[in-house]
Amino acid sequence: MIDFHCHLDLYPDPQAVITESAKQGIYILAVTTTPKAFEGNLRLVGNSKRIRVAVGLHPELVRDRHQEVELVCQLMRRTSYIGEVGLDGSPMHRESLPTQRAVLQRILSECTRQGGKIISLHSRMAAQAVLDEISLAGNVGEPVLHWFTGNEKELSRAISLGCWFSVGPAMLKNAKGQKLVSLMPPDRILPETDGPLTQSGGKPLSPWDVDLVTRALADLWGMAITDADAQITGNFKEITSSPRVARNFKDRA
Ligand code: MN
Repeated sequence: MIDFHCHLDLYPDPQAVITESAKQGIYILAVTTTPKAFEGNLRLVGNSKRIRVAVGLHPELVRDRHQEVELVCQLMRRTSYIGEVGLDGSPMHRESLPTQRAVLQRILSECTRQGGKIISLHSRMAAQAVLDEISLAGNVGEPVLHWFTGNEKELSRAISLGCWFSVGPAMLKNAKGQKLVSLMPPDRILPETDGPLTQSGGKPLSPWDVDLVTRALADLWGMAITDADAQITGNFKEITSSPRVARNFKDRA
């Protein structure tokens, strides 16, 4: 199993989640919301073979923490994984969009400069703007749109820009989300939980709940669960063995 966008450090007992995930052989991309959490996350995961830590600056925090963008760019030299970064155009955060854009531009241009990055991107109510920034930044590496909720036109633009999509259980719950996911190329999809910020049945999602995604995708694709699982595993191998990504899960898989 693969959870390509999880906030490991936000669980009440991260170590218990790490232990259980190791037992179940789950690969995890641990995203961070501020670069100050990066070192702590590295210590947290220790030598867990299947977990990688991404350095990020969440768009919802950019208004108050935009000066941390330089720390993001410094720490980026130590990982191939960037996230959570992006733009949030929802009413609560719309006001800081100009600052959010400047921060994202700085991070994406650094991705282009350093090369070899996999980037987990937030784009709530700002899909068009995020795609504009990806397109302007040139060869940023492998952009992964996390919890993408743009319209169909934005989706086809994202596909033509070579984006990946990390899809969580919430996206597959309603007809609108299912339609959008059914239009995503199956070979560009990775599962995510976004836990513990997301819930199912009143409980925060944990990495092993990506099982829900595999089942829903199998339904959507009209496949057996084992075939959907093989597709997803193949996608994970593909993105992490991209020749542009230097430090990846491949050597440990
Ligand atoms: Mn998130």
